Amino acid sequence: MRVDYLIVGAGFTGATLAERIASQLDKKVLVVDRRFHIGGNAYDEYDENGVLVHRYGPHIFHTSSKKVWDYLSRFTEWRPYYHRVRAVVEGKEIPLPFSLASLRKLFSERLADKLEEKLLAQFGYGSRVPILRLKEVQDEDLRFLADYVYRNVFEGYTLKQWGLRPEDLSPSVTGRVPILVSYDERYFQDPYQAMPREGYTVLFRRMLQHPNIRLLLGVDWREVEGEVRFDRLIFTGPIDEFFGYLHGPLPYRSLRFRFKHHPRPWFQEVGTVNYPNEHPFTRITEFKHLTGQAYLPHTAVVYEYPEAYEPGRNEPYYPVPREENEERLRLYQKEAEKLKTVLFAGRLGDYRYYNMDQAVARALKVFEEVARG
Ligand code: FAD
Ligand code: UDP
Repeated sequence: MRVDYLIVGAGFTGATLAERIASQLDKKVLVVDRRFHIGGNAYDEYDENGVLVHRYGPHIFHTSSKKVWDYLSRFTEWRPYYHRVRAVVEGKEIPLPFSLASLRKLFSERLADKLEEKLLAQFGYGSRVPILRLKEVQDEDLRFLADYVYRNVFEGYTLKQWGLRPEDLSPSVTGRVPILVSYDERYFQDPYQAMPREGYTVLFRRMLQHPNIRLLLGVDWREVEGEVRFDRLIFTGPIDEFFGYLHGPLPYRSLRFRFKHHPRPWFQEVGTVNYPNEHPFTRITEFKHLTGQAYLPHTAVVYEYPEAYEPGRNEPYYPVPREENEERLRLYQKEAEKLKTVLFAGRLGDYRYYNMDQAVARALKVFEEVARG
């Protein structure tokens, strides 16, 4: 077989590039994925009880990029959805990100008033303050707050999720969930927040439905390497795996998912409840909140159990953002630069902790490079 582009991976990165190249450049594309389905980690499906579940953990779409929003809106209608998360701290469910509302759930009115006043004076209403930044403040009361939030919200969760302490990761990791100096109880603050009305898999099907696109599922790209001729390869799998771990493996974090069905309409009040301090799992997510299947008389939840990544046994879900891994990544990027006909992109190809919208934004950028020739 001969194609213009071979794309490895049918997730957001691969699907966006395939769609753009096929529809805008009128080139022939073969998309290969070793999984038996499209969608990458965003894949969703109906379970045996008719509940729409996300096989690789809960995926909530949010973006600040109008470009990404407009692009994806060609392939789906949206259901407005503001994700809400709570964390169990000292037996109470508090809003997350930690906000002025969370203060009031935990502390006396007097103490909460004082802390609120100091947060407002120091940062201003509406600020988003990463925990590692809050830990640096001089004020004694805010130091107390920082230590409290660090210990009760971040330390245990981060140890479970990454096997590392917050300080041993890039500050951008815990910075994803900043302390909110406001009463905003939404998990994300982006202007665009919604779920694809018919789910992610339908969205992907539409993206990939083009006469110039062929799909090969359940096949590792190495199996077709010798049989398919192509001008360019776009690789969205793990970059270290591509190079046969030449410079040693890049660390990834994996997860085990446990799905549970409940014969009652609802399991919990909000989409996700985090457990920073107890249990081996980090969080429980109830899909109906996300997907809008409120009419169902039963429900389904997923528990996430973090674990070490072992190639062949589980999936490389998270790159681990920290300096020593960046150094190893640079060695692989140097190898990549030597290959004129191969491009790398995506959460695994770039080894970047991208959200879905960032994966699409990156793919659209790569497409511009491809289109320039
Ligand atoms: P992927 O989706 O990982 O796709 C890569 C594909 O390449 C895979 O399907 C894989 O099978 C295939 N592949 C790899 N190697 C080979 C090979 N050798 N041969 C053939 N195929 C290969 N983002 C959000 O915006 N919101 C969220 O709420 C959110 N929640 C998340 C929750 C979890 C638990 C996880 C793990 C991620 C979450 N994300 C979320 C991030 C989101 O999953 C990624 O941003 C997105 O999937 C990246 O798309 P991608 O195409 O780069 O990678
Ligand atoms: N985090 C935490 N406690 C929480 C929620 C998040 O310590 O209750 C930290 C943790 O290090 C986590 C990171 O913030 O890995 C990013 O959280 P996010 O919810 O964005 O993770 P994801 O949805 O990508 O797994």
